[in-house]
Amino acid sequence: MNGIWKRSLMLLALLALGCLVVWPIFGAMAAVGAFAAALLVIVVLHLHHVSMLLKWLRHPVPEATPQGLGVWGGVFAALYRMLRQQRRSESQLTATLKDFQLAAAAMPDGMVILDQTDRIEWCNPRAERHFGLDCERDIGQQITYLLRHPQFAEKLQSQNYGEPLMLRQLRGSDLILSVQIVPYGDRQKLVISRDITDLERVETMRRDFIANVSHELRTPLTVLGGFLETISDMKAADNDLLRRSLPLMTDQARRMQRLVEDLLTLSHLESDNSPLRDERVNVPNLVRGLYRDALALSAGRHGIALDLECEDWLSGREDELRSAFSNLVSNAIRYTPEGGEVTIGWQRRGEQAVFAVRDNGIGIPAQHIPRLTERFYRVDRSRSRETGGTGLGLAIVKHVLNRHQGRLEVVSEPGRGSVFSALFPAQRVVPAETGEAAVA
Ligand code: ADP
Repeated sequence: MNGIWKRSLMLLALLALGCLVVWPIFGAMAAVGAFAAALLVIVVLHLHHVSMLLKWLRHPVPEATPQGLGVWGGVFAALYRMLRQQRRSESQLTATLKDFQLAAAAMPDGMVILDQTDRIEWCNPRAERHFGLDCERDIGQQITYLLRHPQFAEKLQSQNYGEPLMLRQLRGSDLILSVQIVPYGDRQKLVISRDITDLERVETMRRDFIANVSHELRTPLTVLGGFLETISDMKAADNDLLRRSLPLMTDQARRMQRLVEDLLTLSHLESDNSPLRDERVNVPNLVRGLYRDALALSAGRHGIALDLECEDWLSGREDELRSAFSNLVSNAIRYTPEGGEVTIGWQRRGEQAVFAVRDNGIGIPAQHIPRLTERFYRVDRSRSRETGGTGLGLAIVKHVLNRHQGRLEVVSEPGRGSVFSALFPAQRVVPAETGEAAVA
């Protein structure tokens, strides 16, 4: 039993006792009357306190908490303590919020918080500058109405937020932004933007430089290569020194030509940000052609097999796909010792289509696999050179697959062989009938 009940029962007991005392002296009527009057006084007192409470609740400030009698004193004291505690938490929260806002304003990155329906809930000043937003005006607006960029809208819809997006010319600005979408909480999202304009400028300069140097080297190398071949066929080649050096020189000139061609392909792929001009690519035909090339390249040193499990086509760029696939095939042949097996396959894996090259060659130790697509990364530099590698093949493959929203999967074991698979998403796959119909 709590204090209020105890006190109330004691009061009633006192009143009843008073009545019992009054009863023999003034009679039953007077005793009952006195009891009723006392109860009335108690009720009036309670009503008075209730009205004070209601009045105070209209503007509940701790300083104006009413004073009460009896149990009401305890009630008002408890309310006063509650309100003071709430005040303290409020000011702590306000201070934390202020700190957060200051930190968010000082952040070098832009931040926009979106609700479940992609409406803006909050953004920091940097995001205002990046996206041309006005935080006060645009709160509650659908972000895709303000950032009208197809790639951004697509990314937001796709719910595949892994890779950051590179956005140019947002709302007429010449900023280049890297934009990352991070989901959190109950389907809310954080959009983080970073200004990469300077970085991109340097990157463009580097790309242009490589493209220009490669381009400038191409003609002299072709001339040199041509003359070396002509000299090899001439009588002068009887000279002993020339006979020994000419094949070496021709080999090196060819290697340099291949390098220049690969560098040009790579810089072309890197600098082409335009959306892919889609063609219907007859992959089964392409794969049959690659199989014939593989037979020629291997020159009978390997067992080459073709595993054409499906007849589907792809939507993409035929020249780029041919270049990527033939790099995978030539790698399998170059890194598989004589007598080994190479299988070239085209198949479906669920919704995805897969071009896979399997070999039982030298394989790759696990720690090298994540770095294979870096430019000039080789597991065994001398073997790559000996077999005519440029160190750029898999970098080209990665770029081509990225442009087709595909990805490269490498499974390998040293001494047992490797499987290089190029996986294409369902939206790139064109069923055989549709592809053939489009050509007919
Ligand atoms: P490279 O011109 O040197 O072959 P790539 O970019 O095509 O350059 O390949 C990078 C490296 O990956 C190669 O140097 C080689 O070490 C390794 N590699 C690629 N394909 C295979 C394969 N099928 N088997 C073993 N190693 C491979």
